[in-house]
Amino acid sequence: MKITARSLSGEILDVQVDGSVFKKVSKHKGDVLDLPWIAPGLIDIQINGFGGIDFNRPIESDAAWEHATQQLYAHGCTGFLLTLITNREEGYRELLGDLVTRLRRDPRNCFGFHLEGPWLNPDPSFRGAHRSEWMQKPALSLLKEWRGLVGDWLKLITLAPEVDLDAAVTVITEGKKQGVEFFIGHSGAMGETLARAVKAGAIGWTHLGNAAPALAPKFDNVLFHALAQPGLMASLIPDGVHVPPHAFRALAQALEQAASSRLLLTTDAMAGAAAGRKGRTTLGEVEVEIGADGSARLPESSSQPGPGRLAGSTLTPFAGVFLAEKMAGLYLEDAWEAFSTRPASIFGLKHGLVEGQPADFCLLSPEKTPYLLATYQRGKCVYEAP
Ligand SMILES: [Zn+2]
Repeated sequence: MKITARSLSGEILDVQVDGSVFKKVSKHKGDVLDLPWIAPGLIDIQINGFGGIDFNRPIESDAAWEHATQQLYAHGCTGFLLTLITNREEGYRELLGDLVTRLRRDPRNCFGFHLEGPWLNPDPSFRGAHRSEWMQKPALSLLKEWRGLVGDWLKLITLAPEVDLDAAVTVITEGKKQGVEFFIGHSGAMGETLARAVKAGAIGWTHLGNAAPALAPKFDNVLFHALAQPGLMASLIPDGVHVPPHAFRALAQALEQAASSRLLLTTDAMAGAAAGRKGRTTLGEVEVEIGADGSARLPESSSQPGPGRLAGSTLTPFAGVFLAEKMAGLYLEDAWEAFSTRPASIFGLKHGLVEGQPADFCLLSPEKTPYLLATYQRGKCVYEAP
């Protein structure tokens, strides 16, 4: 297959796909009008559910799995980390056991697990929609159990190192040896505590600006400490709800313009994303209300603690890139990179429009604000716009 298309930086490329890889990527000679845009597939490192399917509950059928992952393809996503929020130990056992069987058989666009919890800060300022009573201190025994269950499919753990710093350092050090990456999140880690976790190997902050105290000292707060930590990446949720546009712009610009860019974009999507309906849904055992503005929150009327708190988002990856571009005033190619090749590189995924790499890419319509024409994974068309 041969495609002539424009890269997001404006270059006209001749792209030759042979089987599952890019065989040749070269500059096209001459100018052509009205070409589609071509860009690497989007990589989302935090997907709790999608298309009406909640990944934090047992998936009922192959059809449900296919539907959720197909909806992700339809929103430009060729790779995602299936994310489980804080659960009971037996909850992880059941969910991970079931999911890994599915992944080994038919991974679709999922390349592994992100466990957000249970090693988080249970304080109401940090816990977000997670259940405090299921949180615990980091423990090698649990890491070993998860690795035993899912092996190399375990890619990322979000933890709060201040809950037990020595235990966190031990778990991070050991996990890194086994190929697991660590982000800090739902955490109040600052100063020395943060520096120690980073020195041990933590490389990012999960959804910076969220699961953080509403009222905090003007300088001594997690935002400034995370931004000031050299090299620490951070993911932001570009739905305009999790982080208001002015704050998103400030954070994204600070991260993007660091010595080496450390901005990551993620949706933190849950079952309500691409599900086309308002009303009640779930995030594991948590009941969630999708509002008229598309936000996913703990219902005001429920007996669950923390009504009104955000519980994931209904943002889709494709929409997220353009919202990020607009809110932060980024170049589209930079926003796209923060949602594709940069997260891919964390996990050693070969990704990008480069000869020899897997042909995972999106074609976009040539308008100023493009829509998705098609998604390809390993050289195969997995989504085409109707
Ligand atoms: Zn979270």
